[in-house]
Amino acid sequence: MSKWRIGDVTVTKIVELEVTGGSRFILPQATLEAILPIAWMQPHFADERGRLRMSIHTFVVETPTHRIVVDTCLGNDKQNRRIPTWNERQGPFLADLAAAGYPRESIDTVLCTHLHVDHVGWNTMLANGKWVPTFPRARYLMGRVEYEHWSRPRDRADMIAVFADSVRPVYDAGLVDLVETDHRLCDEIGLVPTVGHTPGHVSVRIASRGEEALITGDFMHHPCQIAHPEWASTADADPEQGQRTRERMFGELAGTPVLVLGTHFAGATAGRIVRDGDTYRLDV
Ligand SMILES: [Zn+2]
Repeated sequence: MSKWRIGDVTVTKIVELEVTGGSRFILPQATLEAILPIAWMQPHFADERGRLRMSIHTFVVETPTHRIVVDTCLGNDKQNRRIPTWNERQGPFLADLAAAGYPRESIDTVLCTHLHVDHVGWNTMLANGKWVPTFPRARYLMGRVEYEHWSRPRDRADMIAVFADSVRPVYDAGLVDLVETDHRLCDEIGLVPTVGHTPGHVSVRIASRGEEALITGDFMHHPCQIAHPEWASTADADPEQGQRTRERMFGELAGTPVLVLGTHFAGATAGRIVRDGDTYRLDV
């Protein structure tokens, strides 16, 4: 378990799944030959062969007034997922969350940076054959644009399943607040629009006592995109917009003390973006 402190705010990482390799489907340009020359990829973000390390985790953000879960991973018992290992999972995520000091009943806010399969899974859990909200005392914040996009009829069976088992049940339970992409949650926490990956995608800005951090969401999937902002993910809805967002964000963050907390970054997970020749690098 990793923990960071940003002024009065603590951020705790709860890992659901870590993998090495097998990520070519998401970042086709990140070949072994392209990754090996980027020296700072090892050891946190790639192995000695150049295979990418990736993580699916939640960040629990605790402020003086709020206890927020940012992105809810894959979930247990889900079906009809495209990736075989994402089906019928029986992982200890909720026990790990409780062991970190955050039993699910104690969470007051759930925030989804976007509504993809690996960010909404633990919104719900299976109880007596029904999908029920995992965090019964929480308001679930979802982007209005994002929700409207994903609630339209879809033809992909996996996308229909994700919305039906992990989004619709919390909406029907009356727990969802649809928010704008620049929404402010409390004194320390606000959303930053970082669209491209999905139409309403947001990142999360944390600021307290002169310190700052940014939870990325999926405007990048892996730190190799800091060295190569032009590498789009196959999951990006609008690849050109995604690249513009990365270039804008790296330009704004480079050389600042803002701690970047990567939503799929393995190992150290966090660092600061600095200029590196004509591109950028993450200092962990
Ligand atoms: Zn993701």
